[in-house]
Amino acid sequence: MMAVNIFQKIIDREIKADIVHEDSECLAFRDVNPQAPVHILIIPRRVIRTHADIGPADRELLGHMHLVAADMARKLGLVEGYRLVINCGHAAGQTVPHLHMHLLGGRDLSWPPG
Ligand code: AMP
Repeated sequence: MMAVNIFQKIIDREIKADIVHEDSECLAFRDVNPQAPVHILIIPRRVIRTHADIGPADRELLGHMHLVAADMARKLGLVEGYRLVINCGHAAGQTVPHLHMHLLGGRDLSWPPG
């Protein structure tokens, strides 16, 4: 059986997280190791392991996650800008096998990323 990933435990309330948004499709909570003054993770309730696993059935869900991200950015005052990041696979630094979008802001962000 596949091990339950840590984000599933947050969804199931088995471990605590600072949840800033929740609805029937997704959850948003503060990253435990923030890389910027605002660092939120937006995750679907349904397990999709990586961005490479998305398919046509996920079209609405992914659009919804973007709307939540834009709403969070507004509510958290990221008027100067923000960055959305999805790390896909180990070469990109993905550490949790449950699709997640990072919302980063509150400081100037350099480019290119590391
Ligand atoms: P990634 O490297 O793209 O897979 O991002 C995983 C992110 O999850 C990292 O930024 C971690 O700091 C974050 N993270 C891991 N465990 C937790 C947790 N229990 N609560 C909040 N964020 C977490």
